[in-house]
Amino acid sequence: MIVVTLVAPGPLSPQLVASLVGTLGAHRADRVDEQATDIYVEGDRRAIRETVFTHIHDAPVDAIVQPARTRRKRLLISDMDSTLIGQECIDELAAVHDLKPRVAAITERAMRGELAFADALIERVKLLTGIPESSIETLLDTVITPSPGAAEMIAVAKRNGIRTVLVSGGFMHFAEPVAERLGIDAAFANRLIAADGILTGAVAQPILGADEKKVRLLTECEALGITPEDAIALGDGANDLAMVETAGLGIAYRPKPILAAAADGVLRHCDLTAALYAMGIAPNTESSVSSV
Ligand SMILES: [Mg+2]
Repeated sequence: MIVVTLVAPGPLSPQLVASLVGTLGAHRADRVDEQATDIYVEGDRRAIRETVFTHIHDAPVDAIVQPARTRRKRLLISDMDSTLIGQECIDELAAVHDLKPRVAAITERAMRGELAFADALIERVKLLTGIPESSIETLLDTVITPSPGAAEMIAVAKRNGIRTVLVSGGFMHFAEPVAERLGIDAAFANRLIAADGILTGAVAQPILGADEKKVRLLTECEALGITPEDAIALGDGANDLAMVETAGLGIAYRPKPILAAAADGVLRHCDLTAALYAMGIAPNTESSVSSV
């Protein structure tokens, strides 16, 4: 049995639900609350996903398509930049040297999958040479902001017994404080090298890229004694692809096209609490949907 979760940023259109139920020939539709409905349907997951995304087209609603049996999760693993927070930290750091447009252009291409991640990272970090580490604290206080729904998603997930992990191709200088602010259990990221409080323009090896994000997912699953089916992974860019494809539920948040095409759910309209609905948790009441 496949469950299709529709979530809207406001009231979900009953007409849209009814028309999708008809198109899918679905067994049943369970209204979760004003914003969300679960539609249950038998059939091939990929084919159903295709039908759902074609059907909702550009309606202001997000959809997540997954096996109903495994929707409850034990692990939530998420990217940081442009997923849990609204910024790309490396671009904000480059602004200290007035290099934001130049660095942001490289970041954009890397996140679209047009450049090799590690090479692009090394090239950009070189441009950060000479920036004081204290600039990072200033950015954390003034510029870096959690994405809408991020704090609630993490808090509710944890109350539901889900381990939360941040894994970032960005930097521990940001990942550690962001994880602490959001109450995330553990954080993994690259390390900027500094000497006497000044960035040297180097990043520690080995670089944490797409493969390492997937390995972190597998390692966390092993430690919990679960399989990747029991994990949800969230991201926005090309370096999240392997992790999002490997997790039982892969969510793409305001994503680059390469990730949107591969994810089970794409969040273009809703905030991150939509991931809770996907896992069968209604965030407003924290009532749980039983697995089918
Ligand atoms: Mg990202």
